[in-house]
Amino acid sequence: MSSTRKRILVTGGAGFLGSHLCERLVAEGNDVLCVDNYFTGRKDNVASLLGKPNFEAMRHDVCFPLYVEVDEIYNLACPASPIHYQHDPVQTTKTSVSGAINMLGLAKRLRAKIFQASTSEVYGDPTVHPQTEDYRGNVNPIGPRACYDEGKRCAETLFFDYHRQHKLRIRVARIFNTYGPRMHPNDGRVVSNFIVQALRGDPITLYGNGSQTRAFCYVDDLIEGWVRLMAAPDDVTGPINIGNPVETTVAELAHKIIDLTGSRSKVEHRPLPVDDPTQRCPDISRAKSLLGWEPKVPLETGLKRTIEYFDRLLGSNAAPAEARTVA
Ligand code: NAD
Ligand code: UDP
Repeated sequence: MSSTRKRILVTGGAGFLGSHLCERLVAEGNDVLCVDNYFTGRKDNVASLLGKPNFEAMRHDVCFPLYVEVDEIYNLACPASPIHYQHDPVQTTKTSVSGAINMLGLAKRLRAKIFQASTSEVYGDPTVHPQTEDYRGNVNPIGPRACYDEGKRCAETLFFDYHRQHKLRIRVARIFNTYGPRMHPNDGRVVSNFIVQALRGDPITLYGNGSQTRAFCYVDDLIEGWVRLMAAPDDVTGPINIGNPVETTVAELAHKIIDLTGSRSKVEHRPLPVDDPTQRCPDISRAKSLLGWEPKVPLETGLKRTIEYFDRLLGSNAAPAEARTVA
């Protein structure tokens, strides 16, 4: 066993981001334990890792205590798409808050370093633009997004209190919209929705007038940022924004995906969801200076890779071949 080989727990490891993280950590030779209750994650996401001697998957809900021995913990367990986290909002808050308490308790017992997958949603519908880490946010505490936003805010509070009170080594990343292969085709997030709709030749569902903005980070870039944050000196606790600072309107995204898929789909407007943030874009100065990190994959390149993934996944259920060719 090499001296750099670590035992690493990834909660939510069978989800979209978790599976990419597990892949990266396994490839680096670490012993990876993936813990997931498969609420939004799938065994298929980690199927290629199951035969590896340094990978193990365990069904477990982080709302309950976990007794394992590891050196590092990445706490990702939590549904991330609005339709999934609003499906059972009480469970969403429990997952964020009880999950954080259980994982922090585990880290405290083991003196393990622990990473929290926080979110740009802690800024709510931001009044400061782009968002810097010292902006305290504009969250509606009683709206339909609150179960996720406030759950994640409370998890950040717990992380910093365990750090101050118990000297725990923490890393808190505020993740902005991330996309790529292995997003769930029915998770309702904008990139997966638009690509699946375009490939099937279905209407593209644009909520509101499409002028709301987001900044989309390709998954490989994000994972590189996480790994650098985990490896950074212990005074780099975060919170630190990890995302791609190239802002685009949702309407522009729709048209880009129609162009890249060569789809005949037409845009159809639908009502804007309650509390949908108007503008979102990370200021990543802190990640650049502390981690030497910035995203490398342009939106068009990342979208092409994601379209190829969904094209394979949808296979014969998708639209006719001429509507599915990736540009
Ligand atoms: P995902 O839904 O694909 O993954 C979440 C995983 O957590 C799933 O595998 C799910 O089954 C698991 N899970 C949910 N509740 C659980 C519980 N109680 N116990 C154990 N496992 C549980 O979402 P994702 O996009 O991979 O997001 C991963 C993390 O990153 C989440 O914490 C999310 O809040 C955060 N995040 C993601 C984005 C993004 O754009 N993808 C943006 C901001 C933050
Ligand atoms: N959106 C849309 N059509 C869809 C799905 C989402 O117009 O089919 C919009 C949504 O209203 C939001 C943006 O795309 O303004 C991003 O939505 P997503 O659910 O991906 O993530 P959010 O950043 O809102 O959590």
